[in-house]
Amino acid sequence: MIYFWITFNSIPFISLFLTQILLASHIPVYKKKIYFLSYLYYFINTNALCLFFSHSGYIQDTNDFRMIPIIYYTIIFEGIFYTWHRISHLPYFYKYLHAHHHVNYHVCPIDFIDVNYTDSLGFHICMHLPLKIIPLNFLEYLTWYFVMITSGFLLHSTILGEHHILHHKHFHSNYYILLTNFNIILQKNK
Ligand SMILES: [Zn+2]
Ligand SMILES: [Zn+2]
Repeated sequence: MIYFWITFNSIPFISLFLTQILLASHIPVYKKKIYFLSYLYYFINTNALCLFFSHSGYIQDTNDFRMIPIIYYTIIFEGIFYTWHRISHLPYFYKYLHAHHHVNYHVCPIDFIDVNYTDSLGFHICMHLPLKIIPLNFLEYLTWYFVMITSGFLLHSTILGEHHILHHKHFHSNYYILLTNFNIILQKNK
């Protein structure tokens, strides 16, 4: 279990390191800004939720590795996240939930975790809630988590396409994370 938590909490740093390599060293992943609170919120929320779901038996202690549940998990996550993201853009909630993240008009990878406490909590609930429908084991969960966190950083660059960059510029389209084609269709139809 201790190895799981060490790996789990190392993932954002490994993901940022990979992002920096993929973007080439001359493109910074950070802005001149203090990110202490962003990291604090991130680790408090992700550890609390992961602890809750692992203790509730939704993260299983088995050793096999299955791709199909991970694919289902991703689709369910995208649906939950899309709903949360749409709600956080409603005028009544926007100021309290999501405005902090959208202060970043010109984004860089670290902006992925530059959110206020409530937005961070909402995001991590979206990340863990699919466990109630599709339980994963520790290895499957770590793999999925690594892919999603790395994607989150990369989406705040142009390396995986521009749909999230466009979301930061236009606000009212491209609410998904990985469903890129659907995002771009939404952008074009706007
Ligand atoms: Zn948004
Ligand atoms: Zn963003």
